[in-house]
Amino acid sequence: MRFQPALDKIPAYEAGKPIELVVREYGISPEKVLKLASNENPYGVSPKVSEVIKEAVYKMPLYPDDSYKALKDALAKTHGVDAKNVIQGNGSDQIFDFATRSVLNPGDKILQNGKTFSMYSIYAGQCGAETIQTSSELHDLNQFLDLYKKHSPKIIFICTPCNPIGDALDKSDLYTFLQKISSDTMVVLDAAYMEFGKTRDLRKEVQAADVISKFPNVLYTNTFSKIYGLGGMRIGYGIASEEMIRAFYKLRPPFNVSQLSQLAAATALSDREFVENYLKENLKEMVRYENFAKKKGLFYFESYANFITIKLDQAKLDSTQTFDTLLKEGIILRNLKSYGLNALRITIGRPEQNDRVLERLSELL
Ligand SMILES: *Cc1c(COP(=O)(O)O)cnc(C)c1O
Repeated sequence: MRFQPALDKIPAYEAGKPIELVVREYGISPEKVLKLASNENPYGVSPKVSEVIKEAVYKMPLYPDDSYKALKDALAKTHGVDAKNVIQGNGSDQIFDFATRSVLNPGDKILQNGKTFSMYSIYAGQCGAETIQTSSELHDLNQFLDLYKKHSPKIIFICTPCNPIGDALDKSDLYTFLQKISSDTMVVLDAAYMEFGKTRDLRKEVQAADVISKFPNVLYTNTFSKIYGLGGMRIGYGIASEEMIRAFYKLRPPFNVSQLSQLAAATALSDREFVENYLKENLKEMVRYENFAKKKGLFYFESYANFITIKLDQAKLDSTQTFDTLLKEGIILRNLKSYGLNALRITIGRPEQNDRVLERLSELL
């Protein structure tokens, strides 16, 4: 069979290794497996969400409310926008899919950071578009601007705080940059880790309502997969101008978010205490990893997210080998070799989980 040529140029997405795989391949019992590879919430989900889902199981046979009104109203209230500015996604990934398909034609370009979320480029590639990226590890907006002028990309992806490095832009720098971008160029602002970032430093906070009112070409995306502990429910959202949302609706499959996911997400928004506790613990535990890296003389990137990326000394430890060794023991981290870094990305876990990781890393070093 002949598949479309665009597919020859893109890889399939490779997710963090699941617990099930480690159980199958290494015979480790599931409760002994520690997964700190995909930036999921180590405290699980709000008890309010668990309650609501248990009670809603009877809804499973019915299609969801395809207007997603309850969810959109809750998101609109949280972000101070109109429900017409919101679209739900099967993960925020689906919003990136809408974004790329809504503007890209074969031969078009997108612009992104050198080290960033790999899916932007994959979705663009599905449309036959080419990815231009900066050479820097951290977001370098001057380089973005140079490449923007040179290549006229149709979409610019900015991830702040950024996965997999954890760096975040100051809002003031971002806005200065956005002022220089044509209103015909879509700018996707992936804010998956925004709450973690602003908890560490308020200068990093970009608010959806403010940014889309000042810059109608901006699409703000966020997810319930990380801070709200709903990775398994696959739900995210986009906030943008009504015009952009209307375009995305033409690409949206029917019932694109499940009934239970919608309910879980709307309920998760109502439990601030759960989120605030997690944010506090995350910062506290992050400091332990930073101190560990300093003590061992390892370079780490200052992180505004719920993970930390630590570079290993290539002469002493290879990140792939270290990753494999730990995997066989049931500790799943993320190896960043494929990003061109001899580094491990570690999701900040609960204190006792971090004890285990730090102890083993210390022994390996
Ligand atoms: C995890 C993550 C997402 C969220 O993806 P979902 O599809 O919503 O689960 C988006 N962007 C970045 C940078 C991420 O790390």
